[in-house]
Amino acid sequence: MPGTLSIIATPIGNLGDITFRAIETLKTVDMILCEDTRVTKKLLAHFEIATPTMSYHHHSAEAKIREIFALLQEEKHLALVSDAGTPGISDPGNILINYLVQEDPTIPITCIPGPSAVIAALSISGFRTDKFLFLGFPPHKKGRQTFFQEVSASSHTVVFYESCHRIEKCLSELIATQSPDLRICICRELTKKFEQVYRGTVGGLVNMRVNPKGEFVIILSHS
Ligand code: SAM
Repeated sequence: MPGTLSIIATPIGNLGDITFRAIETLKTVDMILCEDTRVTKKLLAHFEIATPTMSYHHHSAEAKIREIFALLQEEKHLALVSDAGTPGISDPGNILINYLVQEDPTIPITCIPGPSAVIAALSISGFRTDKFLFLGFPPHKKGRQTFFQEVSASSHTVVFYESCHRIEKCLSELIATQSPDLRICICRELTKKFEQVYRGTVGGLVNMRVNPKGEFVIILSHS
């Protein structure tokens, strides 16, 4: 029997949002795979968790994935965490999970659910969430125009992530490409000390004075 890979959600800002089961599992697994070991070590120190860590990130070579696969074949129990939120949602986790599923579908992959920025933002938007379109991050360069076309073509609530490096550019692009009546909710630094939620329309963005620092989820709705 292969070991187990536990996909563990961690807080997106407020350490109090970790679950009991996440702490318990992080304490008992053989190894924690981290997007950035320096980030996760702060979380582990806070909860006095001494489990060994190993990095697994965007630039990990296939050799690293094979090393993880080998550990699972040795019946090790591994945990996968990202810097914040739910691993596999717009972060490198899903590449690893996809590899494992294809290589050996008998490996148990289990989730310990918890925070995810996309769901946290949707939950306070007030927009329709029975159907929504999640678009991850807009592409940095090529494909950006198509991305914004996809936003305007959707009849459902649209939600996406944007980094602080491109938030101002992104808001200008929304003004240039979307209907001024389109409703917008910009969630900044959710669950953190300086959390802010900006609500209005795309037409009103020019006067919104969005603080461009921090982490953002953008939600748009026609209704
Ligand atoms: N897997 C993560 C999740 O489930 O939340 C998302 C990973 S993605 C690489 C990181 C992006 O999530 C950030 O650039 C930002 O757009 C969004 N994000 C993460 N934490 C956030 C927060 N506290 N407030 C607003 N957005 C956040």
